[in-house]
Amino acid sequence: MKDETLCLHAGYAPGNAEPRVMPIVQSTTYVYDSTEDIAAVFDDPTRSLIYSRFANPTVMAVESKIAALEGGAGAMCTSSGQAATLLSILNICSAGDSFISTPMIYGGSINLFSYTLKKMGVECIFVKPDADEEELHAAFRPNTKAVFGETLANPSLQVLDFGTYARVAHEHNVPLIIDNTFATPILCKPIDFGADIVVHSTSKYMDGHALQVGGVIVDSGGFNWNNGNFPGLVEPDESYHGLSYVEAYGKAAYIIKARMQLMRDFGVYPAAHSAFLLNIGLETMAIRMERYCENGLMVADFLSGSDKVEAVSYPGLKSDPYYQLAQQYLKGAGGVISFNIKGGRANAIRFMDALKLASNEVHVCDIRTCVLHPASATHRQLTDAQLEAAGIHPGMIRFSVGLEHVDDIIDDIKLGLSAV
Ligand SMILES: *Cc1c(COP(=O)(O)O)cnc(C)c1O
Repeated sequence: MKDETLCLHAGYAPGNAEPRVMPIVQSTTYVYDSTEDIAAVFDDPTRSLIYSRFANPTVMAVESKIAALEGGAGAMCTSSGQAATLLSILNICSAGDSFISTPMIYGGSINLFSYTLKKMGVECIFVKPDADEEELHAAFRPNTKAVFGETLANPSLQVLDFGTYARVAHEHNVPLIIDNTFATPILCKPIDFGADIVVHSTSKYMDGHALQVGGVIVDSGGFNWNNGNFPGLVEPDESYHGLSYVEAYGKAAYIIKARMQLMRDFGVYPAAHSAFLLNIGLETMAIRMERYCENGLMVADFLSGSDKVEAVSYPGLKSDPYYQLAQQYLKGAGGVISFNIKGGRANAIRFMDALKLASNEVHVCDIRTCVLHPASATHRQLTDAQLEAAGIHPGMIRFSVGLEHVDDIIDDIKLGLSAV
């Protein structure tokens, strides 16, 4: 089935006289007839439900829907996008291992990779932005276990060269992990371009309505873990009576290990009610993405024509350095635009404070237009010199186009620019 249909129907098919809408199964636990029955579930937790820290029917329906949309073998929801990124790495990296990442990723991922994972003994090797094949090869060490990148980077909006990253990762027998938050499976299916694991912050376009924070990990089911690099997936797991994930679960080894081991121990599973709300967002995602892309392109075009704007980053613009890669890998460039106001920080603040429709908030990819000045908010601790070094102009605005009529959005931008 096509994406529009999967968005509405994948993951839940009611039987005769069952509710049309997937119910919220609001229960921490599940009842068994006998000790023998419950023992059998502990022997193989994939057979049935044990406890809502591992799995819950409402959340599972959403997991199946997202797996279907991404073309994966399985998925696991998490309580935030950060938790999804963390577990996607910890599922294959232990203390003493390393992984490679492009720096063109979400700021929260940069913090996690540079500081917190480092304290846990897992090192992130950052390559240069747009590192080429040779530079990627050169970054590998004997203990490197994965390559990480973002389809459409938040907030810089660079597009990843999937061809190169997937090829090099696979030559070294490690998986490519992709954060597909900004593109969603509607604009890009990373598994089609060689990704092995896909993560999302569902808090953004998937939820779409700014209702609840969440994340998800999707397993393509296509990576061969039995290549000598991943003993944790192949050798007996002592914490599960000597089970080998690859032997027992084949294609779904990675995602089942993530649930049975990491979700069991870290406990970052979402609530059933959150999954219910996420599902409502997913139902309209395909349609919403079309309009975000249309509005985004018109707003980016308008901004490029303004003499008060210095530079516009939006890979849907023909003038954008990532236009070709966007044509190759994306069905549209989404609704997030970064641009620099002439006159730096002071003018950016004047622009922000004159807006009436767009809300000033720390969020993106909402149904309503929202806007952020990184130099005053998320990157406030940095001096202007440090901002430049991090590739963030003091006059940079991150503008997330919503589903209002585009004329109203552009009128609001005109109001902002007239204050500059
Ligand atoms: C927001 C975001 C995250 C983190 O997700 P949370 O749900 O806020 O924890 C990760 N990656 C990207 C690209 C994001 O935009």
